[in-house]
Amino acid sequence: MKFDRIMIRYGEMALKGKNRRAFEQKLQSNIAIKLKKYSNTTIQKTQGRMYVLLNGEDPHQVMKECQEIFGIHSLSFAVKIEKDEEEMKGAALLAFQDAKGARTFKISSKRTDKTFPIPSQEMNPLLGGHILRHTEGVTVDVHNPDVEIKVEVRHEGCYVTAQDYPGAGGLPVGTTGKSLLMLSGGIDSPVAGYLTMKRGVEIEAIHFHSPPYTSERAKQKVIDLAQELSKFGSKMKIHVIPFTGVQQTIHREMPEGYSMTIMRRMMMRISERIAERNGLLSITTGESLGQVASQTMESMNTINEVTNYPIIRPLVSMDKIEIIDISRTIGTYDISIRPFEDCCTVFVPKSPKTKPTREKANYYESNVDFNGDIEKALQESYIIEVSPDDHTGQEEDDFDDLL
Ligand code: ATP
Ligand code: MG
Repeated sequence: MKFDRIMIRYGEMALKGKNRRAFEQKLQSNIAIKLKKYSNTTIQKTQGRMYVLLNGEDPHQVMKECQEIFGIHSLSFAVKIEKDEEEMKGAALLAFQDAKGARTFKISSKRTDKTFPIPSQEMNPLLGGHILRHTEGVTVDVHNPDVEIKVEVRHEGCYVTAQDYPGAGGLPVGTTGKSLLMLSGGIDSPVAGYLTMKRGVEIEAIHFHSPPYTSERAKQKVIDLAQELSKFGSKMKIHVIPFTGVQQTIHREMPEGYSMTIMRRMMMRISERIAERNGLLSITTGESLGQVASQTMESMNTINEVTNYPIIRPLVSMDKIEIIDISRTIGTYDISIRPFEDCCTVFVPKSPKTKPTREKANYYESNVDFNGDIEKALQESYIIEVSPDDHTGQEEDDFDDLL
């Protein structure tokens, strides 16, 4: 006997009133997108639950995919069987075996089909006894079991549900709006993107690069990061901004101590324009307080002056260790530590000002007209689209190599 479905439970919190339908529809379509390559699977919705019917697809592979979908609280394997005593025993044993290492269990039976002859009080010892006879060193614990096996006898059949697996939590991506993620090749911004997506936000990325000072490989790193992030949503756009012109003007015209602050202000201005153009209502960054020179309170204040868009900074209060831990679990860490230069590191002075002021930044900027550089960067910007299963970016890079 094999599991034929996965039961999906979602939290109740976001499910108030008319949000509920939108939430469920989005979750269902996100699951469908994620499971596209398991083409036999179908999704069934019942009261407050969803089931992925496996139709022969591998249960564990599909479970792993589902565990990356935001908005799911927990999941379990389940099987629908005939209302037959022997089948029920087999399914209960299968459900127990799924909980590897479990030493204690409990059977919780429910009979909604009263025409079925065995009442639920009798079902528990019947099925429990079968598990005890077929496994060693296992006991029943009705108060605090390692695993609870649920058996439900309904008119259309009997359902047996195994242990709970944790879901990714959060809200379905696409239910709380869209944000533009400033994605560098570093450790932090991908984690910031992940955490924002977890709150149901759909992400488009923006990346500033400065060829020929930064290489194709550095860009590829960002494409790979976006692709890794896209696992938690679906397709992801990366707006690539050629930033060399702006940086050269900064390098030539701005006092060294302010070049980093002004570079960030330029990035922010361009990001706002891209966000506006694409209907994205906020900007997300990987900034965290006190990490580097650009991330002092003074610096944030001076950089933030140039936009009135909400800036989402999910990492603002996190320690580097916590951020690294998340980047490891989401699979971006190994990409982030590839040793390619970032546009900021190429042009940035050794000792940038850690306490810039708005007044000085405005004064320095007023001596030079940056509009031409900004418009040119926007005009020359282009979009790369990545999705979890293809290698769009990779192919494009290979093509470049052929030229
Ligand atoms: P990260 O690890 O994300 O690179 P960081 O600790 O290196 O962050 P900074 O270099 O100060 O910090 O960058 C702060 C934030 O600015 C980044 O988290 C990112 O959101 C944004 N940013 C920096 N460089 C770029 C870039 N080249 N393109 C797009 N966004 C960038
Ligand atoms: Mg960085």
